[in-house]
Amino acid sequence: MKYLAADYTSDFACKCGACRRNCCSGWPVTISGEEYERIMAAPASPEYREKLKEALRLNFAPEDRRYAHVVHDRQGRCLLQREDGLCGLQIELGEAILPAVCRLYPRNRRSVCGVNECALSFGCEAVTERLLASAEPLRLTETEIGEAPLFPIDMPEEKYARCRRALEIMGDRSTDLARRFERLGEELFGCRETSPEEQALEDAMRLLHRLTSDCCGKTKVAGKLCSEAVSFFGFAGKEKLSGAEAAELCARYRETAGRLFPEKARLEALAERFLVNHMFYNSFPHVGGTDDGERALYGLCTVYAFVKFVLAGNVRRIGGMEDAAGVLSELGRLIEHSDFKYKAAQFYRKQSDHSPGCWRQLAML
Ligand code: SF4
Repeated sequence: MKYLAADYTSDFACKCGACRRNCCSGWPVTISGEEYERIMAAPASPEYREKLKEALRLNFAPEDRRYAHVVHDRQGRCLLQREDGLCGLQIELGEAILPAVCRLYPRNRRSVCGVNECALSFGCEAVTERLLASAEPLRLTETEIGEAPLFPIDMPEEKYARCRRALEIMGDRSTDLARRFERLGEELFGCRETSPEEQALEDAMRLLHRLTSDCCGKTKVAGKLCSEAVSFFGFAGKEKLSGAEAAELCARYRETAGRLFPEKARLEALAERFLVNHMFYNSFPHVGGTDDGERALYGLCTVYAFVKFVLAGNVRRIGGMEDAAGVLSELGRLIEHSDFKYKAAQFYRKQSDHSPGCWRQLAML
């Protein structure tokens, strides 16, 4: 079947046991009633059946689509994952037995306005490595995939056209990234508000500090990365930053970012690839067919600045591209597979009372 997909999709392959941030660890996996019954009815050895009973537990209030969950060991690893990192369930009973989430991840195969799309999440280490492997523009190309779309997205043509236009603007290298965010704001949302630069910058730093601090205690995924960033920049435990502290944080961030990303052009090219991949994965600005309007823009600017802020704040653990890929894929899990996108837009709303043009500053950081 023909799909619209990012140009790396046709040669995407899971790293299996070589993956350092294996998606079989660290987050809840829920399976449907049909999947549960199918696995428990499969012809497994008596020993493996005991393992399945231990590893698959019914949810407290089972529903059809959220019927049971996979149990993790103390290290947060799926009980069915083997020591070599491979999936024991797949090896024991074959790929077809796997729950959809395990078989599909990191792919999202959907159909929208008559177009089949396959988008991949940068929560996957192999995807992140492909996005970091080139500075060329990320192209959406026609790709042959042997399976049918799984999710229909109900979206009017004009909304779908906006999603495609947003990707065109973000991929247009005739202007720098900050200007592309402005063009998104102006062309798709009519956002023309500006603010005094100093005030907007202070508010942008306060927003990043508060959002990152909020993630420290609340998210299992990327929580440690956020704690490291907040303590690295030296304002851990601080609720609200004063103007002077916000300026100090900005100076520390800029100094560190300048060391971590010395080549601005290369940084912009790589950031653009992640942004286009993220926007395509989420059908920006109509995430899942919704009509988020400028909230989607504020959320996107906040997510973009948040990733750079946390990456810079983890400079002590980044020795090279491999480490950066690890940090980015963990942030990708938080951003693509939790309510973080909405939280980012909410935090923006709360923080930008004083400077409605704060999103421009976030895009320039
Ligand atoms: S994160 Fe990606 S590469 Fe790693 S195990 Fe999962 S699908 Fe494979």
